[in-house]
Amino acid sequence: MPSTDLICDKCGFQGSDDVVWGDFRYIKDGLEIDLSRTLGWCADCSDFVPMEDFAVKDKLLSDIDEALEAIKVRTKRWALFSLLNRKDRLDELERLSALIAQLALIGERKGCERCLQCGSVNVERFDGDYSGLAQYASKETTVNTGFLHPGCGGEFMASINPMRFHCIFEPRLFSVNGHRLDHQI
Ligand SMILES: [Zn+2]
Ligand SMILES: [Zn+2]
Repeated sequence: MPSTDLICDKCGFQGSDDVVWGDFRYIKDGLEIDLSRTLGWCADCSDFVPMEDFAVKDKLLSDIDEALEAIKVRTKRWALFSLLNRKDRLDELERLSALIAQLALIGERKGCERCLQCGSVNVERFDGDYSGLAQYASKETTVNTGFLHPGCGGEFMASINPMRFHCIFEPRLFSVNGHRLDHQI
């Protein structure tokens, strides 16, 4: 899929929304927890960055419902096949634990989302909009995003970057406080 270039119409600063691509996970006591992130602007990195996204409560609740439902269905079968599918059972319980841990985490830390590049909380969600760009195939088209370049005041314009990536991403691991655990940027 193509990425989107974000270019300031005043100073020419150029960023990209591809910074949120990749494989991000929290690790807590050996448990892997999904890390939801969104495009943000970090005042300390002075750049577009992936930032933690805690506005995912509704999705988590419905995922938890789904996981519980799957376990419920399987529980009925346990009576008959109690020795079968032990691995699947453990996977389901682990998935449920991870969802509940994620729900707890976003509840505790809401309002303290971090930049996933440098760990700073001086990060703001990109609230611009370039969804109108999807209808254009040409890279020459640019649309206003409504997002102003912090400290500069210019407006970011969005255009499609025609390069397509087929990357395999190494997992990036974070503590539940949003700090990087590995060091391989
Ligand atoms: Zn600028
Ligand atoms: Zn940063």
